[in-house]
Amino acid sequence: MKRIHIDREACKACKNCIIACMLQHSEAESIHNLNLTDINNQARNKIVLNNNDEVVPLFCRHCRDSECLTACMSGALSRDKKTGHIICNQKQCVGCWMCVMSCSYGMVMPEKASQERTLKCDMCGDDQPQCVENCPTGAIKVIELDMKEKVIK
Ligand code: SF4
Ligand code: SF4
Ligand code: SF4
Repeated sequence: MKRIHIDREACKACKNCIIACMLQHSEAESIHNLNLTDINNQARNKIVLNNNDEVVPLFCRHCRDSECLTACMSGALSRDKKTGHIICNQKQCVGCWMCVMSCSYGMVMPEKASQERTLKCDMCGDDQPQCVENCPTGAIKVIELDMKEKVIK
């Protein structure tokens, strides 16, 4: 299973990964016409500061024992059998926020525009994750794990 691996030390908080995620899920053709103030253009990742003012990149881990999946009562969240990724079917989401409250990393979030559904990382449809593609420092990488979460590549 592909997963994003984070090297916190390498992150320079440029937020290229945030912009790349917004662009990937927007209707904009390029960064040049991406409206950063449009709440419909919402990133699925976060760059935050911890209590020591250190930069912490936050990305969905597509956990093996995923709390969000366990908490979802509507079936909106599911694990893709082929890729192993936790995917949100927004049409089935009833906006109960159980998954939002369950994820220790804050990686399922209310959709800002509707406030009725959640949204989360979809690994860019299992194509090339755009956050990784656009990180200039190599702070985030795609690694391949087996289902026992052992790094095999
Ligand atoms: S949203 Fe949170 S709990 Fe769910 S798979 Fe991602 S990191 Fe794990
Ligand atoms: S893999 Fe894609 S959806 Fe997930 S955080 Fe990166 S850009 Fe966003
Ligand atoms: S693109 Fe890379 S260096 Fe920039 S904020 Fe994101 S993880 Fe950090």
